[in-house]
Amino acid sequence: MKILSRTEVLSISAKKCDCCGEISNVDDAEFNEFLSIDRVCGYASVFGDGEHIAVDLCQRCVKNILGEWIR
Ligand SMILES: [Zn+2]
Repeated sequence: MKILSRTEVLSISAKKCDCCGEISNVDDAEFNEFLSIDRVCGYASVFGDGEHIAVDLCQRCVKNILGEWIR
C-alpha cells in the first residue's frame, strides 16, 4: 500500500538573462533558446572546489559573448 501526501512543486515560469535582463516566460519561444549553466565546481576549478556557479543567458547575449567560438 502506498500512502500519498501533498507536496509543493516549484517549476520555472520564466527566465531572466543575467547579462541584458531580458525576461522570457515559459510559453515564449525565446524561453527555450536560453543557455543555462548550473553546476558545482570540482577540485581543479578556477571558481573554487565545491563552489556553485549558475548563469542564464538569452540567445543574443550567447551570440555576442561566445559567437566566434560557437561551432
Ligand atoms: Zn541577454
